[in-house]
Amino acid sequence: MQIKFLKNIVVAIAGSNSEGLVDILYGKKNVNEFIIAKRLNLNINQARNILYRLSDEGLVSFIRKKDKKNGGWYTYFWTFDVGKSLYKLRDALISEIKSLEDQLQSRQTKRFYICPECDMEMSEENALIHDFTCPECGEVLLLRESKDLVEDLGKRSERLRVDLDVVNREIEVIEKKGENARKRKMKTAEKKKSAERAAKRAVRKKEKQAEKDGQKTDDAKPKIKGKAKKSPAKVKSGVKKLKKTPKTKAKKTPIKKKSKRSSPKAHTRRK
Ligand SMILES: [Zn+2]
Repeated sequence: MQIKFLKNIVVAIAGSNSEGLVDILYGKKNVNEFIIAKRLNLNINQARNILYRLSDEGLVSFIRKKDKKNGGWYTYFWTFDVGKSLYKLRDALISEIKSLEDQLQSRQTKRFYICPECDMEMSEENALIHDFTCPECGEVLLLRESKDLVEDLGKRSERLRVDLDVVNREIEVIEKKGENARKRKMKTAEKKKSAERAAKRAVRKKEKQAEKDGQKTDDAKPKIKGKAKKSPAKVKSGVKKLKKTPKTKAKKTPIKKKSKRSSPKAHTRRK
C-alpha cells in the first residue's frame, strides 16, 4: 500500500493538519480519539474536527463508548477505511485528469492572447472584442505561444494517469481480499448450516427409532393397544359423519344448531 496516496486524499479533504492521521490509523482498528489528538499535537476539538470531516466523506468510521474517566461522556474510537479512501482518491484523480485534458484540448485547438506588460491572458474572441489591445494598459496583445503549456499539461496528466493505475491496482487487491473474506464467511456459514442439518437429521432419526421402539413395546401389550386404537377410530368416524350431515341434509342443520343453543341455556338454568 502506498501511504502517500492515502495522505494525499486525507489532506485534500481535511487539511494539512491531518497528514499524520494516516500513520496513526493505518493498519489499526478503533484508535482512541485522545491518542489521535495527542499524536497529532492538536487539542481534542481540532482532532475531532478533522475526524468528522473525514467521516462525512466515509474515509474513517467510529465506534463510541461511554467513558467514566471522561466524565461519563462518549469517547470515540476511529478506524481508517482504506478501501473507501482509495475510491475517493480514484474519483479525484479521474476528475483531475479530465480537467487537465480539457485544458490541453483547448490549448491545442484555440488561440490565446497575452499582454506582455500585465501578463493578462484572454481568449481570441475576447482579444478581438478589445481590438487586440490590453484593456488595462493599452499594450498590444501578443499571440501566446502554447507549446510549453501544452507540454506541461501533457506531463501532468501523464503523471496522474500513472498514479491512477497504481490506485486501481490497490483497489483490485483490496476488493479481492474482501471477496475472499466474504467467501470464507460463506463457507463457514455453510459448514455451520450443514452441521445443524446433520444434527437435526440425527435427532429425527432418534425420534423415529424411539417411535419404532415404542410401537414394539405396544405390540408387547396387545390388550392396551387394541383398546387405545379403537377409541380414536370411533372419534374419527364420528367426525366424518358429522361433516357429511350438514352437506347432504342442509335443511336440518338450523334445527341442530337450535338444539345446541338451547342445551347450554338449560345447563345454566339448572345451575
Ligand atoms: Zn496590459
